[in-house]
Amino acid sequence: MKKLLLCLVAASCLLLAAPPKPKLVVAIVLDQFRYDYTTRFRGEYRAGFERLLTKGAVFTDARYIHIPTVTAVGHSTFLTGATPAISGIVGNDWFDRDEKKHVTSVGDAATKLLGAEGDGSSPRRLLVDTVGDELKLADAGSSRVIGVSLKDRAAILPAGHMADGAYWFDTGTGNFVSSTFYFADLPGWVKAFNATRPADQYQGSAWLNHTLPAAGRALYSAIEASPFGNDVVERFAERALEAEQLGKRGVTDLLAISFSAHDYVGHAYGPYSPEEHEVSLRADALLERLFQAIDKQVGLENTVVVLTGDHGVAPTPESNIAKKMPGGRLAPTAIANAVQSALAAKFGEGAWVSGAWELEVYLNLELAAQKRFDPADLRREAAAALRGVAHVFRVYTKDQLLSGEGAADDVGRRVLNGFNQRRGADVFYLLDPYWIVGTGTGTTHGSPFGYDNHVPVIFMGRGIRAGYYDRSIAVNDIAPTLARILEVETPSGSVGRILSEMFE
Ligand SMILES: [Zn+2]
Repeated sequence: MKKLLLCLVAASCLLLAAPPKPKLVVAIVLDQFRYDYTTRFRGEYRAGFERLLTKGAVFTDARYIHIPTVTAVGHSTFLTGATPAISGIVGNDWFDRDEKKHVTSVGDAATKLLGAEGDGSSPRRLLVDTVGDELKLADAGSSRVIGVSLKDRAAILPAGHMADGAYWFDTGTGNFVSSTFYFADLPGWVKAFNATRPADQYQGSAWLNHTLPAAGRALYSAIEASPFGNDVVERFAERALEAEQLGKRGVTDLLAISFSAHDYVGHAYGPYSPEEHEVSLRADALLERLFQAIDKQVGLENTVVVLTGDHGVAPTPESNIAKKMPGGRLAPTAIANAVQSALAAKFGEGAWVSGAWELEVYLNLELAAQKRFDPADLRREAAAALRGVAHVFRVYTKDQLLSGEGAADDVGRRVLNGFNQRRGADVFYLLDPYWIVGTGTGTTHGSPFGYDNHVPVIFMGRGIRAGYYDRSIAVNDIAPTLARILEVETPSGSVGRILSEMFE
């Protein structure tokens, strides 16, 4: 009996053994990719998505547990497992109190671009480390870690601090560029790739009823909002695989690739547009091309693939209204104007708003100090003003969040997870579901609601049990799970758990 019990215990342990350590990790982000793009178009997927959805472990209820649900934050969460409260990446942009200016998540004037003119970018605002950093810490830097995307933040933030390189697309030149943060000069293979003018071949290319312009700046910008933006990134990623000999050097390497075309297309046309459908079908073929290249180079059986989206997107308000659904637009100036006039009326004339970004308002605390006002009074007044603006759903002040107030439900907890004490705004506001800030056409994301926070999480590789997993998870669970598979330390800011239910 005892023997039998021991066997049963041993068997159950074996059932949960972590997958064998792979030679290569390919970590893929589809920028602005909602979970429902895996279900609505499922019947038409024949290639890469078909492979992932049948051979992978598919988590059907993966959520972002922070606001704002935007690119820099999603990409920093992906391989750190940290919330913005901990990672310090609180948005694509914010007002930096230390530098007293508007900054972007990766902008770094201490570096220079390589492959184009201008200031470079770096991960120095990311306060925590990534899976790739831990991989390199564990083997004295032998592992290679590389990030690739159209966007600088989407290449840099998943790769981390110790990365061997991060590369992104420059719309001024049509080149893949990097920064002096990584090296003094672009590697030879990148220069050679750029010399082939990789973007120029798409001039005049058509998709649906859109046609790309002639080679030049107009083309390089237009490529981003077309399926060809993903194509050029995939070709660069294949080149990186070969040139850097990823997965072929006796250690585990990590390639992080972020495909941005969904985001540009989704912003312009919305999630229910023919364009979004088309980009998804083309991504199906593109992912298979990438998988074939990996298979040829390293063998897919020696690779762990993980795929997610960095956020979702709201339907365009007009398309919702036409379907009798809720939604609408708030003018971008409405928030800043409401706060400015309320504070001017109460505290006197002056420029009281230092910045108003996705869901966040920064107040002029220098002016408050000069006039000897308590910042908490300013924040209370600003919050009261915002509560008076139609379709403002909730408002939180920094003081409430500092005391942990407001975490009463999932929405409140997501606000708290998005609040970093040093970099966080003075006042956070949320709009009613389906309401967005912005006039004109198109749509956006950033909210704590399902259309913005529900994304696919799919793992595929040896030792990972294919199937659909319905237990609710956070995207933050990806990083500690990879750390477990790679047998390295969990990244420093991770709040996730190991998704051991998918281990064979
Ligand atoms: Zn994004």
